Amino acid sequence: MSKYWNNRTKKTIPYIPGEQPKDRKIIKLNTNENPYPPSPKVIKAIQKAANDRLRLYPDPECIEFRKAVAARYGVKIEQVFAGNGSDEILGFAFGGFFESGTQARPILFPDITYSFYPVYANLWDIPYRTIPLREDFSIDCEDYKAPCGGVVFPNPNAPTGMSVPLAGILELAKYLEEQEKILIVDEAYIAFGSANQSAVSHIEKFPNLLTVHTLSKSESLAGLRTGFAIGNEVLIEGLCRIRDSFNSYTLDRLAIAGASAALADTRYYNEINNRVINTKERVAQVLRGLDFQVLPSSANFLFIKPPTGNGKEFFAALREKGILVRYFSKDRTADFLRVSIGTDEDMDKFLKSCKEILGTQ
Ligand code: PMP
Repeated sequence: MSKYWNNRTKKTIPYIPGEQPKDRKIIKLNTNENPYPPSPKVIKAIQKAANDRLRLYPDPECIEFRKAVAARYGVKIEQVFAGNGSDEILGFAFGGFFESGTQARPILFPDITYSFYPVYANLWDIPYRTIPLREDFSIDCEDYKAPCGGVVFPNPNAPTGMSVPLAGILELAKYLEEQEKILIVDEAYIAFGSANQSAVSHIEKFPNLLTVHTLSKSESLAGLRTGFAIGNEVLIEGLCRIRDSFNSYTLDRLAIAGASAALADTRYYNEINNRVINTKERVAQVLRGLDFQVLPSSANFLFIKPPTGNGKEFFAALREKGILVRYFSKDRTADFLRVSIGTDEDMDKFLKSCKEILGTQ
């Protein structure tokens, strides 16, 4: 606390990102990064962009990148917003679309979900109400059909990894449209489940539907900080108004070049992401055999409850063995661990450590 902080800074409780350990020997399964490198075409594009033109500001409209997104998803460039990671886009969307102040209706999001949502809501002074996940940890869109200031959730949800059926999302979008409220679907992990259904192709029908995407996971570019949103032209214009009230150049020249190349190389990314999915299924099966509870995951991580029933202790025991996973101490998640899917080799070491901790090896 400092006397120089204003009241907003004093009452802010910031998001705490997963640890980025300096020790490279640690097997890092804690922040859902892709274990495989980005496409070689991405590296080439970035190297090519590292030239004397860096003295010039980048394109504030990110036309090259938005064109690549529009081509990939079959939407208009005016329906695409580019941002410095999807966190930034979510921050802008909260500020641009949800009402603040005590008179405003609360926005709704799940009680167990991405822990940045309450942080943005608090920062912008937006009232919110959390909706409990169902007993099986699923999101039921019916639970969100209530008078509110708008709705946001990820599909698949994090940290559970469970997907939300598209039919329910579209019905909710319709309900909210009648109330003139926004539905934000955060599709950070949509590429990691063959049955996952993106809401992108429905943005024409629902002017209140915004899908948010990141290149950090499926494009292996967490270090480049790029994301995008797809929605009605008017929503995109709203996001631009907020962005241009902070910083007009949120994507630098290298990011624009690399991200554009990534979106064009679907063949490479399909291959590595399929590898992640296959590894996930294999690991889930072994864990179930070891009596872990494993939630059905449509993402690049598993949410698991060790048979010992104590998530915190198991987290510490894995850490001792040089394996870093993510632990969330809150209520219903306290018995669980979230484990990002690494390479087959990493996951074999993880499984071996689990067996050692359980004393079955
Ligand atoms: N949404 C969800 C559900 C996430 O888990 C993450 C990653 N922490 C993000 C958004 C943000 O990703 P990024 O800012 O790297 O694009």
